[in-house]
Amino acid sequence: MKSQDVRKQFLDFFESKGHLIVPSAPIVLKDDPTLMFNNSGMAQFKEYFLGNGTPKSKRIADTQKCLRVSGKHNDLEEVGIDTYHHTMFEMLGNWSFGDYFKKEAIHWAWELLTEVYKIPKDILYVSVFEGNPDENVPFDQEAWDIWKTLIAEDRIILGNKKDNFWEMGDQGPCGPCSEIHVDIRSAEEKALVSGKDLVNNDHPHVVEIWNNVFMEFNRKADGSLEKLPAQHVDTGMGFERLCMVLQNVQSNYDTDVFTPIIREIETITGAKYTIKAKDEAEDKVNIAIRVIADHVRAVAFSIADGQLPSNTGAGYVIRRILRRAIRYGFTFLDTKEPFIYKLVETLSAQMGGSFPEIRSQKELCANVIREEESSFLRTLDQGLILLDTIIAKSSEKVISGKKAFELYDTYGFPIDLTALILSEKGLSLDESEFESELQKQKERSRAASKVKAGDWQILREDDDEEFIGYDHTEATVKITRYRKV
Ligand code: ATP
Ligand code: MG
Ligand code: MG
Ligand code: MG
Repeated sequence: MKSQDVRKQFLDFFESKGHLIVPSAPIVLKDDPTLMFNNSGMAQFKEYFLGNGTPKSKRIADTQKCLRVSGKHNDLEEVGIDTYHHTMFEMLGNWSFGDYFKKEAIHWAWELLTEVYKIPKDILYVSVFEGNPDENVPFDQEAWDIWKTLIAEDRIILGNKKDNFWEMGDQGPCGPCSEIHVDIRSAEEKALVSGKDLVNNDHPHVVEIWNNVFMEFNRKADGSLEKLPAQHVDTGMGFERLCMVLQNVQSNYDTDVFTPIIREIETITGAKYTIKAKDEAEDKVNIAIRVIADHVRAVAFSIADGQLPSNTGAGYVIRRILRRAIRYGFTFLDTKEPFIYKLVETLSAQMGGSFPEIRSQKELCANVIREEESSFLRTLDQGLILLDTIIAKSSEKVISGKKAFELYDTYGFPIDLTALILSEKGLSLDESEFESELQKQKERSRAASKVKAGDWQILREDDDEEFIGYDHTEATVKITRYRKV
């Protein structure tokens, strides 16, 4: 089943159950002081759960563009290394605002997975909150009893507060969740260890696909719980993971969500993506390709939603994601020229149907990414020359952390690249000295953080300042003009 059909069937299914289908909220949040990026489907509905405002319908479903790269949910370091966490991903979700509750939510989740998508029941596990007397929260007997009518009891797992209880904060709405996990291992692997023992254990082929949250309590300031007057349902299913299951592959990157971008990376760089790496070198190439295929989506979708790379706040997060991709390309795919921007075309062709913003903003996305790539590649080039000089001048096997810090701080040369180059030359880095320099710098920047300014500035239409951002004429840039400052 093509990913487009997977998405459509989810929305059609919930529409048939009386849900209003709404568009995704932007990935970048401009007016929420607690959150930089949308990191779950419920973020755009938060106020309704807090009792502020009324939703357009008591039943809503959508696919939400999410980004998990900062704050409570930060998966960045996992991305590319594993095959099922992304920076940007789609979260399919259905909501009940004081309407249906556990029975319908669980029955519909099961119906969709096993009857519409036809996932075999014997590869599914579900989890139910075990309760926590210390925090006054009871075992979710109700969910257990509902699941029992649908799935064998030995496939129901008890989960702890970390995985199976959701709360908005120290106070406010909260409640137990029921997660659905899927075991896509081979029969031989299954014979060795039961899938039940691997749920919640970070196994790449026993993964969580859907979380159903039942908001039934309100936590008061004194820590006690009271029943909410109206109870809500908030669910989130990882779209790319669902596609992995339905397309019978073992990695999100082998689904048609990613393969067109991966093929394009192969064509441009000459590198080859292998489904199963046979040695460490192939594995590194694979990781680099996954990092780039993932990160271009995060960066392009953020730019399309109005967040340009910059040196502060959300812009800095986006710049760092893009630089991580550039660095993986530079180090493992030997890419010394900008190329990531070229992938925007493929992304737009593939995702533009569901997310028209990526199509309408593709020139802007490509231009900004290319500009960022050129400037960071120059930094990398200069950094390499400087690092060579440092190495040549040093008679020690351990290179000064102070010098490495200078390279990092003044020239933006990534420290992990310094460490990698040193280790390839049989040298090492004085890490504790580097750390102490970094600490000092953090203290300095904390003091200076009151001054906030992005380094891309939107020019007004009537602004006649010289345009220096790109090397082509305005005729090809039919979008808001930007000038790098
Ligand atoms: P995990 O335990 O795998 O990190 P999670 O418990 O943090 O997932 P939830 O917050 O429950 O995830 O989000 C709902 C669903 O979104 C998950 O069941 C999963 O399918 C999907 N999901 C979560 N994080 C990611 C990610 N970084 N990339 C892709 N899908 C994700
Ligand atoms: Mg997580
Ligand atoms: Mg989890
Ligand atoms: Mg979860």
